[in-house]
Amino acid sequence: MSEPIVDLRSDTVTRPTAAMRRAMAEAEVGDDVYREDPTVNRLQERAAEIFNREAALFVPSGTMGNQAAIKVHTHHGQEVICEERSHIVNFEMAMMSAFSGCLPRTIRAEDGILTWDLIAPQIHPRSDHRPRTGLVEIENTSNLAGGSVYPPEILNDICERTHAAGLPIHLDGARIFNASVATRKSVVELTRQFDSVMFCLSKGLGAPVGSMLVGSKAFIEDARLVRKMLGGGMRQAGVLAAAGLVALEESPKRLHIDHENARFLAEGLHEIPGINIDPAKVQSNILFLEVSATGLTSFEISKRLAARGVLANGSSPTTLRMVTHCDVDRAGCERALKVLREVLETQQKSVAV
Ligand SMILES: *Cc1c(COP(=O)(O)O)cnc(C)c1O
Repeated sequence: MSEPIVDLRSDTVTRPTAAMRRAMAEAEVGDDVYREDPTVNRLQERAAEIFNREAALFVPSGTMGNQAAIKVHTHHGQEVICEERSHIVNFEMAMMSAFSGCLPRTIRAEDGILTWDLIAPQIHPRSDHRPRTGLVEIENTSNLAGGSVYPPEILNDICERTHAAGLPIHLDGARIFNASVATRKSVVELTRQFDSVMFCLSKGLGAPVGSMLVGSKAFIEDARLVRKMLGGGMRQAGVLAAAGLVALEESPKRLHIDHENARFLAEGLHEIPGINIDPAKVQSNILFLEVSATGLTSFEISKRLAARGVLANGSSPTTLRMVTHCDVDRAGCERALKVLREVLETQQKSVAV
């Protein structure tokens, strides 16, 4: 009897729910480039309402949302301040340089959490020598730092001081609803002071496609032009927005389950010889485990797990990443732990021989 695959590679692997598929099949549509798709319009209105903003824009991906925001906020030849492990630097195909002509000014921060003390020395006003700072960018939760969550008072402090320095600030909130669950603060409280926010419908919220930008009317009008430049004008996109609406209304309520499962996994992993992880650092749905003491690379472990129906990717030769989401339940997490234990025991026996 073959058991279902436990896919912990990412929360992007989630499949649309039955309710999403139903909504997609029944969606009213029109040409969204003419702003005539009623379902896209409804999704944008709901997103603006939930984030207490003037306007919102449906974009095909988080990458497009972030890069459209960077384009709107900056000019060629400026710098964008962000954390060293940020998605905009590491996973967006150098678009801040290729498209917006900006240089990333990266800062390494403990657990990916920037503070004003780290940012302030990197801000460069107009000068005869140095590129000028155009934008500050924050990622919450921080993906590559293990789903770490910004304390709300740090966010407020950074936003206030960035504005006092005369600069805009953008939030990569791909997983802002996870941050909201982890801090028990509403997304409005966590995002109010940012000039623009991108969040993903397609990650933990489980929609098949799409992300949102929210901000002022003027910002969203500009971002709409950039979306078109990037080929993101999507015509009868209501079939996608319909799933996005279900995701936006229904999924935040269940994200706490993913966090509980991540914590459960972390505690189980902590007990496995050779695996190094601090369960106290697992704040949302992402785990990074250090595997060097197992005698195997993360890539080898990943391969052996996959052969037994558990998927998790190596993010470096010594680090394995796991992400919990709505398509992995507690039983799936238990199986992942059991299979990993077996893989490592087999390895230790073969070394002993
Ligand atoms: C996934 C993700 C994005 C957007 O990714 P797309 O695959 O382009 O939708 C942006 N920022 C972070 C932190 C992410 O994890």
